[in-house]
Amino acid sequence: MKVGVLAFQGAVREHINMLKMAGAQPVPVKKEEELNDVDALILPGGESTVIGKFLRETGLGKIIVEKAKNGMPIWGTCAGMILLAKKIVNEDYVHLGLMDIWVRRNAYGSQLDSFIVRKPVPAVSPKPLELVFIRAPYAEKALPGVEVLLELDGKIVAARQNNLLATAFHPEVTDDPSFHKFFLEMIPSSK
Ligand code: GLN
Repeated sequence: MKVGVLAFQGAVREHINMLKMAGAQPVPVKKEEELNDVDALILPGGESTVIGKFLRETGLGKIIVEKAKNGMPIWGTCAGMILLAKKIVNEDYVHLGLMDIWVRRNAYGSQLDSFIVRKPVPAVSPKPLELVFIRAPYAEKALPGVEVLLELDGKIVAARQNNLLATAFHPEVTDDPSFHKFFLEMIPSSK
């Protein structure tokens, strides 16, 4: 299975390594031809404003929206979750606007800028996973149709809506490929 990682900015190499560990063939995606060649796509963490601008300027954003609507599995981590959201409650713009979640950017403020917690995510792994938050968003609201995979202190930090997956944290910077394996199982041809 070929899995693209949007490779403009952010934690690209980490996802690529983790995809290899999970048994997929990673493909860095910067161009339309590369996007057309993959079965699924990861939108990495980084800076959502920068990645969003790239998506608009290259036209890749429109193609991603089309592919998502046709069922391509897409996973956004951290900034990627912001890119997927239909609403960013503390901004007056949206990026791809695909997923029925309302997110808050930089939601943990400066004191909790970055932190790690260990928690099981029942749909993904029964054993506790290391959840690494780096200037992370959370979702304040998930509309009907969204399956909440994990809440932390009442805030949604992992969710799935059909072919879309969003995590506020960064599984790619840990050494546990469980989340990447979970994502691979969302690819129809993997069944
Ligand atoms: N704070 C970043 C943003 O708003 C996200 C940080 C991250 O992806 N680690 O885009």
